[in-house]
Amino acid sequence: MRTDPSSRPDPFPPTEAALAARLEAIDPRAYARTRNALDGAVTRLSPYLTHGFTDVPAVVAALRRRHALRLEDKLVYELAWREYFQHLWSRLGDGIFASLRPPPAAHYAAELPQDIHRGATGVPAIDAAVRELYATGYLHNHARMWLASYVVHLRKVSWRAGADWMVAHLLDGDLASNHLSWQWVAGTLTGKPYLFNANNVARYAPQWASPGTAIDRGYDELDRIARADVDVGAEPGTHAAVDEPPLFGAPDCETEMPAATAIEVMHPWSLARRQPQRPAVALLLPEFHRSWRWPARRWAFVRGRLQELGAAVVRWPFAEALAALRGRDVTVTECFAAHYRELIASLRQRGATVLPVPRQFANPAQPCRSFSQFWNRVRGGVE
Ligand SMILES: Cc1cc2nc3c(=O)[nH]c(=O)nc-3n(C[C@H](O)[C@H](O)[C@H](O)COP(=O)(O)OP(=O)(O)OC[C@H]3O[C@@H](n4cnc5c(N)ncnc54)[C@H](O)[C@@H]3O)c2cc1C
Repeated sequence: MRTDPSSRPDPFPPTEAALAARLEAIDPRAYARTRNALDGAVTRLSPYLTHGFTDVPAVVAALRRRHALRLEDKLVYELAWREYFQHLWSRLGDGIFASLRPPPAAHYAAELPQDIHRGATGVPAIDAAVRELYATGYLHNHARMWLASYVVHLRKVSWRAGADWMVAHLLDGDLASNHLSWQWVAGTLTGKPYLFNANNVARYAPQWASPGTAIDRGYDELDRIARADVDVGAEPGTHAAVDEPPLFGAPDCETEMPAATAIEVMHPWSLARRQPQRPAVALLLPEFHRSWRWPARRWAFVRGRLQELGAAVVRWPFAEALAALRGRDVTVTECFAAHYRELIASLRQRGATVLPVPRQFANPAQPCRSFSQFWNRVRGGVE
């Protein structure tokens, strides 16, 4: 039976109070013990981090006020993964959208088959993950890994097609964390494909047990399939399907620009005030959102937060935004998303103050081709 997602309480309210409650609930010890399990003590901070509502140093500082957090703690290490992916995005730009190494097999389909789109593959773990993604906009890390591995290695769909689809439905959809994680699963980031099987699912998500399906194989066989041009196909029979939620470009906005000359320019990845003494204008660039469309839930998250901050929200095409900001004294937070990135570069040339996203770990000048290279380079600079 299908439930109407709009009737459930919002698991990610875009408010300071909700973020504070999440931070307070974190138990780094329980996180380290249980994070691999679907019902483990994960933080669910990702929508707040992706949208710049908070940042990694602020999370670490909040945790340290309550816990004796060390560099070796699993949670710190996972937060470092976020910064690693942002590091690669900042250094490679749109290069993150192409394979960084060759994939294990020769041919992959350019599009996701309908049975995956509709959560009707017949593999319970995969269909449940698709339903949860559509219903909540959130997936546990393990569920993301399983879904991506199934799509790429068992169904032979290009990681890029899978990544574009998944990122569109995530409330925390982050082009660096998402697309580079898909590359990690596909084997095009590290050279090694990520494989999983039914035993793995039974251990960490018994409610999604999938015995007797395409994932119920040994790792040697899965590895052979991953390297061959074989699509194992959906399970035989017909399976209940779910509708994919609609996606939208930048919504219409009716707010006016403030009259003040000195303003803070915000955007969907900087949902925190950096210069609260200035009036805030939040920019939505339709050019970006034509390529990367979001579900209504995600727009509600972004706009709800901007409302909480009292920012005027304007949707301007690139050229209009540049013209409207001419002669203003602008402060803005950096961003690596296309069109926004170019707009901010133009504003910088005109003298705008561009604030970096606060980082816990350094951003090495040269791209680190592995997480361990990054970690070895940056960890020393922390304490
Ligand atoms: C295929 C795939 C797609 C992904 N897409 C995204 C995405 O679009 N946006 C996104 O923020 N994360 C993405 N991740 C990384 C990770 O799954 C999510 O950050 C995490 O599940 C979010 O839930 P949480 O906040 O409860 O995480 P927790 O486990 O509580 O971790 C706390 C924070 O650390 C960071 N973090 C933890 N694990 C990772 C990781 N493996 N890689 C990068 N950062 C991590 C996140 O910022 C997260 O919010 C993806 C992973 C995979 C395998």
